Amino acid sequence: MAQKKVVFVLGPPGVGKGTQCRKIAHRYDFVHISAGELLRQERLTPNSQHGELIDSCIREGKIVPAEITCKLLEKEMEASGKDKFLIDGFPRNQENRDGWDTTIGNRVDVLFVLFIDAPVEICIQRCMNRGAAAGSGRFDDNIEVLEKRINTHIQETQPTINYYEELNMVVYIDGNKPEEAVFEDIKKSFQRFDQN
Ligand code: UDP
Ligand code: MG
Repeated sequence: MAQKKVVFVLGPPGVGKGTQCRKIAHRYDFVHISAGELLRQERLTPNSQHGELIDSCIREGKIVPAEITCKLLEKEMEASGKDKFLIDGFPRNQENRDGWDTTIGNRVDVLFVLFIDAPVEICIQRCMNRGAAAGSGRFDDNIEVLEKRINTHIQETQPTINYYEELNMVVYIDGNKPEEAVFEDIKKSFQRFDQN
């Protein structure tokens, strides 16, 4: 099988990473893997060795150690049997990046980093709408945790994005547009994977 290929998708909480990743995966031959979703699942797995640590990180808006997240990502990649992946919400800081580089990084090509950005107020509004949506709310979509998540994004994830920027690996996407318009912009970076 061909060498595995990955696109990292980063951006502030609530900017629409998950929504756009689902659209990309539907249109192109990429498997969407949400790091946050894998951690939320692992947190609920009975007898998980890391459940409590994951739970406290998520509640505090902190970043789970790479060792845990990378294992979950790798397992999911292997299980898919595919070779192109969108990794949504990872790596979030330098520790994550180093952890990736020294483990999976040797076996996978990172094609580029899709950075979807929007003003903080817009992201808060989107998260609050999602949190309030009947039955579909995420337990960390409340204003107290959200403020912590945004801080973590600014303090830790933005420098990580800057690092990739210096390597010319970042594709910047304005996320402050309607869903379909954002997707139109994203498509330009995935045209080369079009199978039609
Ligand atoms: N998280 C983490 N490492 C990751 C991805 C997520 O520690 O690689 C944790 C972190 O506490 C974060 C939460 O999971 O605040 C939710 O992440 P997710 O990406 O699902 O939220 P989003 O940024 O999409 O709103
Ligand atoms: Mg998400």
